Amino acid sequence: MSEVRTRFSPSPTGALHLGGAHTALFNWLIARHYQGTFLLRIEDTDQERSQEKFVAEILEAMTWLGLDWDEGPYRQMERLPIYQDYINRLLASGAAYNCNCPPQDAKARQAALARGEKPKYHGHCREINLPAGPETAVRFKTHHTGVTHWDDQIKGPIAFDNQELDDLVLQRADGNPTYNFAVVVDDITMAVTHVIRGEDHIPNTPRQLLIYEALKVTPPFFAHMPLMLGKDRAKLSKRHGALSALAYRDQGFLPQSLVNYLARLGWSHGDQEIFSREELVKYFTLNHVTKSPGVYDEEKLLWLNSHYLKEMPAPELARELTPFLAAQGITDPDQAYLTRVAPTLSARCKTLVEMAAAARFYFLDPRPYEVKAAEKFLTPAAVPTLREIAARLAILPDPSEEALNRLFSDLAQTTEQKMASLAQPVRVALTGKTASPGLYEIIHILGREEALRRISRAIEFAEPGTA
Ligand code: GLU
Repeated sequence: MSEVRTRFSPSPTGALHLGGAHTALFNWLIARHYQGTFLLRIEDTDQERSQEKFVAEILEAMTWLGLDWDEGPYRQMERLPIYQDYINRLLASGAAYNCNCPPQDAKARQAALARGEKPKYHGHCREINLPAGPETAVRFKTHHTGVTHWDDQIKGPIAFDNQELDDLVLQRADGNPTYNFAVVVDDITMAVTHVIRGEDHIPNTPRQLLIYEALKVTPPFFAHMPLMLGKDRAKLSKRHGALSALAYRDQGFLPQSLVNYLARLGWSHGDQEIFSREELVKYFTLNHVTKSPGVYDEEKLLWLNSHYLKEMPAPELARELTPFLAAQGITDPDQAYLTRVAPTLSARCKTLVEMAAAARFYFLDPRPYEVKAAEKFLTPAAVPTLREIAARLAILPDPSEEALNRLFSDLAQTTEQKMASLAQPVRVALTGKTASPGLYEIIHILGREEALRRISRAIEFAEPGTA
């Protein structure tokens, strides 16, 4: 095979959503699998809806996901002379014609649809050889007979009756190209070999194929990916998958979780679920992409995220966690300390946001205590236990986790109490909560002095004036 060239070509009319990231990833994987080239192209000809801030967001999201591009970002609005050149060729060969009919208004289109008809251009300018003028658009002279078909690399053979296709506008009266035309010119001039995009573009493909034919250029392979469905197979909603990729970042997901999740959506390799990026690149081909849509499953994404959080080396985890601590009022945390803290939380949390909230007590006073926790465990009855533990802890020669374990089990034996009932008041004293990482780990990380300070404050809380 000649060099494989794929492209991702978002319109900057919104952020990069999960569906767009899915398309981008499949294109990136195919390019990487075949050691080809991955292009990024910004389709900004819809000047009313395109915004610079969305271009920036799309690039940021791609970078965050690790979907690096080899060429581009190309921008269609910088390529107008190229489109003009192709328009001239099509006009010269008679495959296109000038048209000064007013664009069919939305109402007329709606009325046609309501009558069960496809809204179509009536053909007034098709045969009159109108010269170009300031108000003229250029339309494609679509064959009214025959069938346009292709062998879709995912969906299999697809055919459209040409009769169903309209004389589509290639260039608007303002000189800007339309989507279907610009895409063909770009894919030709950028030597794209595989067009991989959402199945919502299937109706565009016959139109594009006819333009290739008119230009006498062999078309690329087309592969239409099943769209992602939301909960109960409904359309994606804001709560189920319609968020932008960067919103997932802000909610504390790791890019590797999202990449792994999206790769498995509509593609499989046996029953393997966890894939390193290298494995994805090695195994990913279009052969095992399914025809039917994947259903967005937040639980699975969370499961993958907890997997990658647990697996991440502690210093890296500390780095990832740092920006999320700011929302907890912890800025510029000591990285060595955070490197000890982070692994105690990753096993218990599913996102970096959760981890940051759970990390709070390591940095800040745990007061005010959780109301229920304090009511239950920081009572006058708990004070003797807290005092005894503090006294023993103060003279422990080496407060290692092992020594702390011994301290608690000795005390449990002499006082005939359960370990858990000894541990809970201390846990609330240190963390403000009844659930936390292992107590010995916490004492070890907080340090003896800080642990003693917190126990003494808890005694003061339980029996004011006695600490
Ligand atoms: N710009 C189109 C979109 O955002 C993509 C078109 C294509 O891949 O051909 O849906």
